[in-house]
Amino acid sequence: MKGAGCMDFERMRDLMVERQIIARGIKDERVISAFRNVPRHKFVPRYHQNDSYDDCPLPIGSGQTISQPYMVALMTECLNLDAADKVMEIGTGSGYQAAILAGLCTAVYTVERKEDLLRMAKNIFRELDIANIFTKLGDGTLGWEDNAPYQKIIVTAAAGMVPQPLIEQLGEGGILVMPVGGVFSQELTRIRKKKGQITYELICGCSFVPLIGKYGYKDD
Ligand code: SAM
Repeated sequence: MKGAGCMDFERMRDLMVERQIIARGIKDERVISAFRNVPRHKFVPRYHQNDSYDDCPLPIGSGQTISQPYMVALMTECLNLDAADKVMEIGTGSGYQAAILAGLCTAVYTVERKEDLLRMAKNIFRELDIANIFTKLGDGTLGWEDNAPYQKIIVTAAAGMVPQPLIEQLGEGGILVMPVGGVFSQELTRIRKKKGQITYELICGCSFVPLIGKYGYKDD
């Protein structure tokens, strides 16, 4: 099959936004506009580019995935982002979620444990001229203490509980969004920190790859 051209990708992206994101109830105009602006096809392997706007996760190599567009939108909306927020992401993967966040806040600090994925994501950030994403190779269950506290934290891999260092690095009044549950299925969970107290809110069922590290699952 012939590869899609730029205009085709733009059209596929518009359809994705209308049918998968707005039709399912995402309302935040800033989030919707970020999805119109970020070229998702750049973040998937070449042989999956024609599927990049489909309603599903896709493999990105190293046994990992780029999440379904709607799930990226829902997690982003759940963060209630303010333009002044400093956000930490655990699980850079393809870099797509970080690129969406970068247009909605002041800085994104993203941590990935797989070197090859991080290298590819950094190349795309450079190609797209995104200057407010800062990356770190390492175990994201430890967070990234140097830049803490963060107003918002997003974890794009699943664990049985929220790693304690992430709760500690979340600022007062902050929000953390993460899939929490078993290995095969979890609940997308929103955590708020108010006056030092933590509250948990279940958003919906989901299925993410495991968060592997000191405060997550053991190494694969
Ligand atoms: N946000 C990504 C995107 O937009 O493509 C999707 C991430 S994928 C579902 C989950 C990622 O979490 C994988 O790249 C995986 O290597 C990473 N991961 C798992 N455990 C981690 C850890 N302890 N620290 C950092 N990254 C981790």
